[in-house]
Amino acid sequence: MPELPEVEVVARGLRACVLGRTVRSAVLRVPRLRWPLPEGLSERLAGQRLDDIERRGKYLLLHFGQGSLIVHLGMSGSLRFMTRWEAPRAHDHVDLCFEHGWLRLHDPRRFGAVLWHGSDLGPAGAHPLLARLGVEPLGGGFDGALLHRGTRGRRLAIKQLLLAGQVVVGVGNIYASESLFRAGIRPTTAAARLSRRRCDRLADEIRATLAEAIDRGGTTLRDFSGADGQSGYFQLDCFVYGREGQPCRHCATPVRMAHQQQRATFWCPSCQT
Ligand SMILES: [Zn+2]
Repeated sequence: MPELPEVEVVARGLRACVLGRTVRSAVLRVPRLRWPLPEGLSERLAGQRLDDIERRGKYLLLHFGQGSLIVHLGMSGSLRFMTRWEAPRAHDHVDLCFEHGWLRLHDPRRFGAVLWHGSDLGPAGAHPLLARLGVEPLGGGFDGALLHRGTRGRRLAIKQLLLAGQVVVGVGNIYASESLFRAGIRPTTAAARLSRRRCDRLADEIRATLAEAIDRGGTTLRDFSGADGQSGYFQLDCFVYGREGQPCRHCATPVRMAHQQQRATFWCPSCQT
């Protein structure tokens, strides 16, 4: 599943390919992905210039004069920009036809989303899917103080709190496991038990882990490719994620794996307390 760094890389790729360009039409080949696709999208977008491209959590916001297209890549979605026409293949569900090429959404599992938020409804951030998202981990509002406040009175495990997205958004399973390792915090620790000092450390490691992944072009997991069609995703050199039974890179203790709410969690029993 594309996580925040991958989506950020896609946003950067899109800015390079289509920002400031005008849409001619849109082609929708299925009636719905996770939700129904917007009716009349082609007519709405025709002649509109793509003024800005933003990422919010794992959503891509394509801002046009009359509204915003909200795109989520779901479990298996990818975007590809083509300057030469190619016949659509299976699972190529949506094309945005620009004056200089085609932006194509491919999504075999169809958990992705393409939604339209008209500017008459207010800013795209007011959309129900976006309005309650936590702060951006790479933005100025995220630090140990905010994480500490957000963990008070919360008895759930810190890893689950990170994944829930209400305090901080977009820290998915891989990056939660890696950040907790780097901060020396066991994933099952009750969030409320973390001291301010440990929250400071964890916030720093979340930011560093995500920033490193973005620099590397995101983590390669499955069939995910960047906006330019390159599969420019380098395998993240994980400390613990996906390394069950292998020696910890710091202390050589075998890495453990358990499930927290059906999500695999990896940790070093010596380095993380
Ligand atoms: Zn260790």
